[in-house]
Amino acid sequence: MSTLRFHAVKASLKRKPLKIKDKKRRSEIFGANVFNEVAMRQYLTKTALNSVLEAIEKGTKINRHVADHISTGMKEWAISKGATHYTHWFQPLTGATAEKHDAFFETIGDGLAIEKFGGNQLVQQEPDASSFPNGGIRNTFEARGYTAWDPTSPAFIYDKTLCIPTVFVAYTGEALDFKTPLLRALQAVDNAAVAVCKYFDKNVKRVSTSLGWEQEYFLIDAALASSRPDILFTGKTLLGHSPAKGQQLDDHYFGTIPARAMSYMRDLEHQCMLLGIPVKTRHNEVAPNQFELAPIFEEANLAVDHNTLLMDIMQKIAKRHGFTVLMHEKPFAGVNGSGKHNNWSLSTNTGVNLLSPGKTPMSNLQFLTFFINTIKAVQTHEELLRAAIASASNDHRLGANEAPPAIISIFIGKQLTKVLGELETVTKGKLSPKEITDLKLNVVGKIPEVILDNTDRNRTSSFAFTGNKFEFRAVGSTANCANPMTVLSTIVAKQLKDFKVEVDELIDKKTMKKDDAIFNVLREYIKTSKAILFEGNGYSEAWEKEAKKRGLSNNKTTPEALKIKKAKSTIELFDSLGVMNKVESESRYEIEIEDYSLHIQIESRVIADIARNHVVPTAVRYQNILLENVTGLKSIYGEKFKDYAKAQLVLIEEISEHIETINTTVTKMTEARKVCNKETSLEKRADGYCNMVKPLFEDIRYHCDKLEIMIDDELWPLTKYRELLFTK
Ligand code: ADP
Ligand code: MG
Repeated sequence: MSTLRFHAVKASLKRKPLKIKDKKRRSEIFGANVFNEVAMRQYLTKTALNSVLEAIEKGTKINRHVADHISTGMKEWAISKGATHYTHWFQPLTGATAEKHDAFFETIGDGLAIEKFGGNQLVQQEPDASSFPNGGIRNTFEARGYTAWDPTSPAFIYDKTLCIPTVFVAYTGEALDFKTPLLRALQAVDNAAVAVCKYFDKNVKRVSTSLGWEQEYFLIDAALASSRPDILFTGKTLLGHSPAKGQQLDDHYFGTIPARAMSYMRDLEHQCMLLGIPVKTRHNEVAPNQFELAPIFEEANLAVDHNTLLMDIMQKIAKRHGFTVLMHEKPFAGVNGSGKHNNWSLSTNTGVNLLSPGKTPMSNLQFLTFFINTIKAVQTHEELLRAAIASASNDHRLGANEAPPAIISIFIGKQLTKVLGELETVTKGKLSPKEITDLKLNVVGKIPEVILDNTDRNRTSSFAFTGNKFEFRAVGSTANCANPMTVLSTIVAKQLKDFKVEVDELIDKKTMKKDDAIFNVLREYIKTSKAILFEGNGYSEAWEKEAKKRGLSNNKTTPEALKIKKAKSTIELFDSLGVMNKVESESRYEIEIEDYSLHIQIESRVIADIARNHVVPTAVRYQNILLENVTGLKSIYGEKFKDYAKAQLVLIEEISEHIETINTTVTKMTEARKVCNKETSLEKRADGYCNMVKPLFEDIRYHCDKLEIMIDDELWPLTKYRELLFTK
């Protein structure tokens, strides 16, 4: 085993950057493998095309007869591009994507065959995916989950396979995937926002959600990565002493992209272009071998599909380049982890970004309305938003090196803080004409300039306003953005609905003018949303204390954070907006809490294996070398040997102490695991894994890491941090 590390290091040193053929202009190849409007115009009849466009625009149903035309056109297009198979492509609650391929090929008797793809195969499939987690919704004996075509996200070809984005639902109609609740939540926020927009512009018919994600990741040489059992099984290192140099010199951030990584990125971007993923930005991140990739923002459902597709192809392309992509939120202790900032905004079919200050006082009042309602929504549901980003892997990141803490707060910058301060002093009840004019001129009217001046940059607030969008930064790098986007859309939809009711009441009952009513309601929101506003940076003990005083939640672990998901108020919230019914909400809680235990269980087994079967035997071997040395010294120097063997004797004793502690802690951890596994309540099991099993990782790691720096480098079997992080 000890040689695997050196084989890996040798292999990694031999690699060269691959040559990438990407001569064509990006604008030329963009979307070449997507069944987009251009392709549809070429391959679909007019009726079929209109039917798809209407389904995308208005959510209308496509009838079976037309579906046959669409599927035929789609098949012809796909075959012309070299595709041989098709698959319904969906996002089960495992967090990955799923597919089951079928060939277009069909026999028709007499030894003949044709390529066929009917409307039925396009619209609905029964993949019999009975072993995906479903949290009790679908008993396995029912074994029926349907995938159904989502025409709002276009089909694409990858690896000679036509992939059709679909939702995944039980035969009873309950959602078994991430996409279905997201689509419902986007609809809810659309409805609620359109109603509010009507105060400002009667022409608004649709409000869509935009999402621009920023994907952070580590690129590690594949040979080095696969020499580590912990990376192989958990996507992260469970032990490893920090190298002499980490990220302290800040010499990687925004530095020159190393040649191999660059060639990987170009290859990846080329694929992204073909698949219509509008990637635009690439750069080094803070930690060594850490990078970021970001697209131009898109409609949220499409952006989610593109991100999940991207995560999949990132791994596939990495193989060609001899890399392993680590998507994990915290693959290495002591250096930054990876997040996936979700840049979020709302825009109207008339082309207005509702979170962008406008040119006139009227459009700014609209901006403030959406801005303040978002703040209020987050204030009311901060704990639920925290739960939306909870996972075993993100727990490692939150609150550490440059990451946002587990406390949700909003950063809005000095200028907007001032604007809110002024709006807070608006007169209660009807406003005088002078006050209205003054507000419009000096407060609401002044926003565009102040935003442009706004140079506040805050990198670690969990939810920050950045000029024309909110940036939800607590999202983890492995997350499916659908989950946080579903929750954010739902709470904003709920808030906007409540706002509309309150404003209408003031107009109807108190006969207030519309603007007066809006100012009055917003004033109250500002007053009651103060706790969530925080201009500070990242995690600190002082902020923890302060947040506690303010009544903000600070759920540091996933089991704690998830509890709010099964609260009655949460279930009612999702149900009332038609996003998820009770069964769907409860099943998601179950799946997530179980997923947590499974992750910690695997990590615990792996760390035990490494500690006992890799570290301890190596320590013993080294100790034997020391003992041999001491015996040798004794045979030459007799009684005086101690003068020459002082250091060796200390090392021998220390090694024994570390071995002893590792061994007893691993035994204790194994016993704790047994207790947890016997627990039938999923919740109690997760609590056990969190509070009894996981805390022991640190002790085991501490002693293993100490041994790493004592033992002869030649003997150490595990690829070291310096090799993983600094091989380019
Ligand atoms: P950074 O946050 O790193 O400074 P940018 O602000 O330029 O970078 O953008 C980051 C991401 O935010 C990109 O994906 C970009 O497309 C997206 N973005 C920009 N404007 C909006 C918007 N109005 N709504 C949603 N996402 C947006
Ligand atoms: Mg950003």
